[in-house]
Amino acid sequence: MLSEELLKVIACPKCKGELVYCPKRNELRCYRCKLAYRIEDDIPILLVEEAKPLNEDEPCE
Ligand SMILES: [Zn+2]
Repeated sequence: MLSEELLKVIACPKCKGELVYCPKRNELRCYRCKLAYRIEDDIPILLVEEAKPLNEDEPCE
């Protein structure tokens, strides 16, 4: 589980925009870039080259 504090300070490495935490899929989503960043051991992997294309049809909740 990511802390609220961490979520407040992290941003998408590509567009510097807001990231949305998806607890169900354990990923951070940037809807602007349509990228999903995975989280390993509570550490978000905020690397554009590690991100996966975001499938917005996959529900988050
Ligand atoms: Zn972005």
